[in-house]
Amino acid sequence: MSEILVLVEHVDGDVKKVTLELLTLARSLGEPSAVWAGPGYSDAAKAKLAEYGADKVYVAAGEEIADYVVAPKAELLAQLVSERSPAAVLVAATAEGKEIAGRLAIKTDSGVITDAVGLGEGFVADQSIFGGGVNVRSRVTKGTPIVAVRPNSTAPVATAGAGAEEKVDVAFSDAARAAKVVERVKQEKGARPELTEAAIVVSGGRGVGSGENFSIIEKLADSLGAAVGASRAATDAGWYPHQFQVGQTGKTVSPQLYIAAGISGAIQHRAGMQTSKTIVVINKDAEAPIFEIADFGVVGDLFQIVPQLTEEIEKRK
Ligand SMILES: Cc1cc2nc3c(=O)[nH]c(=O)nc-3n(C[C@H](O)[C@H](O)[C@H](O)COP(=O)(O)OP(=O)(O)OC[C@H]3O[C@@H](n4cnc5c(N)ncnc54)[C@H](O)[C@@H]3O)c2cc1C
Repeated sequence: MSEILVLVEHVDGDVKKVTLELLTLARSLGEPSAVWAGPGYSDAAKAKLAEYGADKVYVAAGEEIADYVVAPKAELLAQLVSERSPAAVLVAATAEGKEIAGRLAIKTDSGVITDAVGLGEGFVADQSIFGGGVNVRSRVTKGTPIVAVRPNSTAPVATAGAGAEEKVDVAFSDAARAAKVVERVKQEKGARPELTEAAIVVSGGRGVGSGENFSIIEKLADSLGAAVGASRAATDAGWYPHQFQVGQTGKTVSPQLYIAAGISGAIQHRAGMQTSKTIVVINKDAEAPIFEIADFGVVGDLFQIVPQLTEEIEKRK
């Protein structure tokens, strides 16, 4: 079996769920080696990576890696690709992951696939393109396949790997130091899961009518342990913060369950959510285009349906 590099996403030393998904995917295709870049590495992190199948953990733990935006991570991966000749490199299809994938592709003269929602034998990727309007199957035909996989594309499954640790020394180029992070402001993290990683997302649109009314969307989300999302109409109106916007110019989500309330289903909104596994729609207009992609649709007033739904879910707890 051949080695597959998986770039670890981590925050404050915690391994993010998407990395466990990528390790699970890599395990089905070869021998996963996790690549830890930047500070925060610990025995607990190593144990987590091994629990989800990492046979090796390459560690480049210098502060410098985090200080120079994404360029050092691409150089670290390029060095590992040249030294280890892995069968593929997997990164999360986040904004950062996709930038790293692009830079790595240039450095290693390889092909890159972004926004994969599945990856099979021969590293053939199911890919969602043109704003989610078209699904294609793609394969890298040159160099080392570099694939950016969307969060929630695979359910993480624990399968013990050896987790053998190997320190990596990298001498970063001057070019990698061209842009330096000069300040970090930590965003207050709420109790809800992170939008792009959540297994369930409940989103509200213009139909919600006001910022105050978003509390009914939040209540439904909290009853399900879900993240809250919003359409651009809702964020532009100032009803919900922009960081929660789902769509072409917002976040891309691919949860197990996406509930859209009071959202019409414009192509730009769909672009960010239509690879969700199950889509439930609540809209008072039976002709709303979002019903075209719904697995389950309710035609009705969200102000009646959403609180009833929340109540029923709470009763079952
Ligand atoms: C370049 C560009 C980028 C864009 N990027 C994004 C993006 O990232 N994300 C995004 O979302 N949009 C984006 N948009 C905007 C997009 O085109 C739509 O304007 C937007 O998605 C509409 O939001 P909406 O569905 O909430 O509002 P509307 O289209 O106004 O739909 C509101 C829906 O709520 C329903 N409704 C109203 N009242 C109720 C009620 N009481 N109960 C139930 N249903 C009700 C209505 O029937 C209607 O279907 C972008 C547009 C452009 C041009």
